[in-house]
Amino acid sequence: LMLLTRKLIEIRTILLSIGEQAGLTLPSIVVIGSQSSGKSSVLEAIVGREFLPKGDNMVTRRPIELTLIHTPATPANPRPSTFAEFPSLGPGHITDFTLVQSTLVDLNMSVPAAECVSDTPIQLRIHSPHVPDLSLVDLPGYVQVASMDQPEELKDKIAALCDKYIRSPNIILAVCAADVDLANSPALRAAKKVDPLGMRTIGVVTKMDLIEPAQGAAVLSNNRYPLALGYVGVVCRAAKQHTRSLLRRSSAAGDEEGSLIGPIRAQEEAFFGEHGDAFSREGIQVGTDTLKKRLMHVLEESMASSLHSISNAVALELEEATYQFKVQYNDRAISAESYVAETLDHLKARITALGKSFAKKDVRKLLKAFLDEQVLDLLASQYWIDPRAPELGSLANDRSVSPEDLDAYWHRKLDALASSLTKSGVGRASTQLVVDAIRARLATLAREEPLLYHADAAERINATADAILRERFTLTSDQVENSVKPFKYEVEVDQPEWELGRAQAVELLQRELSMCDAALAKIRDAVGGRKLRGAMEYVGELEEKERRRRERRREARAAGLEEEVDDDLADPNRPVFNPALLGKAREAMFLSSRSSILRLRLLALKSRRCKAGPEQKAFCPEAFLNIVADKLSSTAVQFINIELLVEFFYQFPRDLDNRLSGDLDRSQVLRFARENPVVAKHLALQERKEKLELVAEKLDSLVKLQRDKAQQQNPR
Ligand code: GDP
Repeated sequence: LMLLTRKLIEIRTILLSIGEQAGLTLPSIVVIGSQSSGKSSVLEAIVGREFLPKGDNMVTRRPIELTLIHTPATPANPRPSTFAEFPSLGPGHITDFTLVQSTLVDLNMSVPAAECVSDTPIQLRIHSPHVPDLSLVDLPGYVQVASMDQPEELKDKIAALCDKYIRSPNIILAVCAADVDLANSPALRAAKKVDPLGMRTIGVVTKMDLIEPAQGAAVLSNNRYPLALGYVGVVCRAAKQHTRSLLRRSSAAGDEEGSLIGPIRAQEEAFFGEHGDAFSREGIQVGTDTLKKRLMHVLEESMASSLHSISNAVALELEEATYQFKVQYNDRAISAESYVAETLDHLKARITALGKSFAKKDVRKLLKAFLDEQVLDLLASQYWIDPRAPELGSLANDRSVSPEDLDAYWHRKLDALASSLTKSGVGRASTQLVVDAIRARLATLAREEPLLYHADAAERINATADAILRERFTLTSDQVENSVKPFKYEVEVDQPEWELGRAQAVELLQRELSMCDAALAKIRDAVGGRKLRGAMEYVGELEEKERRRRERRREARAAGLEEEVDDDLADPNRPVFNPALLGKAREAMFLSSRSSILRLRLLALKSRRCKAGPEQKAFCPEAFLNIVADKLSSTAVQFINIELLVEFFYQFPRDLDNRLSGDLDRSQVLRFARENPVVAKHLALQERKEKLELVAEKLDSLVKLQRDKAQQQNPR
């Protein structure tokens, strides 16, 4: 039978890891009692170690699920040691029980005082040659009188927590102190509610030494609250002072150091021996050793009688899990490791695809678009607003004016413009542009499946990419800057290049024009044509007035006169325009003037003179600058490709391999896989099914063993 308890305790641990569920629980011994009833002392006497937190300040705030595992001496290990482990804190054998005590204090104190108690149990396993196989639950002691630091609410919370644990099939160990009337024992009262016949309740009467032996014997043979499993009287004061001398004596006798077993046995033998006349009567049970045997026996019987029902419940659960696994996942087994590997492969494929989208022609297009934008800005801010700009347009078709006749002004202006383009820091800007594009694409990748679920990994991926990009940045940008150096001095253009540049400039300006017109139309649609015209007229007048005022002021200052006072009042008959409308009107005026400039420039670019060739470049700055932008971008792209892109897309997947999969341990792999809810659900069901299979197998062999044993005992 011993084997049965042991095996079922193992099974119980597996079942607990699947999650609590009705029908799937195996019995455990639940220890209840009021504060100071001697509950801790009894538990410590059973374990033979002082390991529970002591003190008045509500030291037990969480249930302690205590599993005792008997480790028999074997020839290979004649003196197995006693040690404890906290499964939730990872593997680790603790042999110093003061450390167990302080860890329990910490785990209990992690429950905020305001919450009083928590349902979340602390798991503790103790392996020892001196303990039987038992599974026990220690619960916070009942509070009898509510007080300042132990409010009514706490009292109710503890009672509720105990009620939860004392349900069937658990065995109740009701601890009462001998010097307190059993009628007042909250433990017995609570037990009676759920087990009125006392079929699964054992009474433990502590502090037997505090009352008269005859009275003690009467308490133990209690007929007022009869329990089928009876009462056991103990004396197990584990107070240090009292036991210290006993401890010293027992360690001299060769007991394990720190063991309470010897001292308590001696203490009880002394007390119950001395009063043998009172306690050696039929039906009276005394002593911690008796209690231990009783508990083993009761738990074994309870486990044995649970064997069939638990086997059936597990079989049913397994059937359901198997069915669900078939229906939901078509029996497809996955592993966290394969998920990690698949995710990484997927990621690398995405990165390869990303690399392909950064082919030279794509990057060139990217750079060119960027430079086109700059060219347009330069033209608008430095060329088209020039007061002499109309010269360019009017001369465009006038064949009587040769480029040589043109004022050197326009030549100089064009040179200045070309050099502001070539000297604008193309190396840095274009490298930055490509780096930004890569980072933006990676950011998109992080928002898509499967990275969507793995924020940590996505962050690491970005950090990996950034490290490489940072390393390549300066080198690339310097190389590009170097390569465009010749253009800073001279840009040579031949006829075919000119023709291409002119055509591209036409295209660019046309695109700009249609954008400009579309924006204008949008404003007109929103505001209304007439209203907009009125507002634009008004703004025009304001601007004209402002211009004239500035002129007058300039003249006055030039003539050394006082500036005149501005007495220009608004016309009272004008409709009042709101500031938002005036803003729209200003925008519309800007767009319409830009639109007319663009139209003129298009005419110029399409004129015969512009078509003639590169020597006409001063007439057609748009065409010339377009060629410069073209040359800059195709030169830059060569170096960006070699120094940045090729390096990056070679290095990145390799670094990812190292950083993402290289150093993950099993728990990290699991955590990663479970971040994905779909995978987490799949894994959970699969794990449940596997654990149930394992449990079912173990139970099967136990059932068979029981049957064989029964047959041996009653052969037909
Ligand atoms: P808990 O609050 O129910 O866990 O009670 P403890 O085990 O901490 O015991 C409360 C007090 O009763 C402590 O001072 C113990 O030393 C004392 N005590 C426990 N068992 C006995 C016993 O059998 N005899 C005597 N005289 N004192 C005991």
